[in-house]
Amino acid sequence: MEIKRVIPSGYCKGVVRAVMMAKKARKDHPGEKIYVLGRIVHNRYVAEALELYDIKTLEGGASREEMLEQIEEGIVIFSAHGISAAIKQKALDKGLKVIDASCEDVIATQELIKKKLAEGYKVLYIGKKKHPEAEAVLSISEAISPVYSLEDIAKIEAEGKIFVTNQTTMSLFEVRDLFAAIAERFPEAEFEKEICSATTQRQQAVIDLKDADLLIVVGDPGSNNSNKLREIGLKNGVKEAVMIEDASGLQEDWLKGKEKVYVTAGASTPPYLTDQVIATLKKYAETGILEKTSVEISKIL
Ligand code: SF4
Repeated sequence: MEIKRVIPSGYCKGVVRAVMMAKKARKDHPGEKIYVLGRIVHNRYVAEALELYDIKTLEGGASREEMLEQIEEGIVIFSAHGISAAIKQKALDKGLKVIDASCEDVIATQELIKKKLAEGYKVLYIGKKKHPEAEAVLSISEAISPVYSLEDIAKIEAEGKIFVTNQTTMSLFEVRDLFAAIAERFPEAEFEKEICSATTQRQQAVIDLKDADLLIVVGDPGSNNSNKLREIGLKNGVKEAVMIEDASGLQEDWLKGKEKVYVTAGASTPPYLTDQVIATLKKYAETGILEKTSVEISKIL
């Protein structure tokens, strides 16, 4: 069995920046309470590793606004996915110190949308329902209509100038298909694909796999870009594709009889987790034994 790492894969610049900002916050403010509003990036191990720095991630189904209500003092970090201006202002009004770890690519999409709104466009935004990036964008203006699926397109009421764009971590294929369906309904609409370069490159690397018997995606179930890598693999000739959070998710059934196994990882997956998966697979290829592994949180960040 041959094991190969898909290149590029794993951490993107926006994730690295967000994690470094959180670590720096602790270094610069020893002893202060530090919170992250939702997971800083979509990987639960990163949130657990931040606890080692005494940085608490607030989550658990509550809205960003409800999470903010739980903070009385200290520092609040906004995640890489972006934040609404109203929530940011509310945090400042509460007297909290604010650190905005929004990815520059996410901010660039928000700025583009604001510019189009100012020019009088109705904006259609392709995104994932309830994803924090989509929620932050939709909070900009009521003149933005979300498009989560093909079905949504028929329901949109729009006239005049229409501008269409998307969440940065969508699948290239999904956006292509939704753009085409929107163009059919609104032939005058203008389009700007905003899938970020990190997502594009990771997806293209999976599209380019021609001989994979099995694609293993290392990523958190809540990570949109990780889920899209698995979907894209299946759509593009990979015989089987699975997603696991870490090496303990590997199953022997998947590996039996496979010749070429490729491993990729979402943009929010810590390299340590991917390395551990590859090491476990290599050992299995050599010995036929699938070792039980556990994650050491201290090695995540
Ligand atoms: S996936 Fe793209 S938009 Fe998201 S944090 Fe990474 S670089 Fe930024």
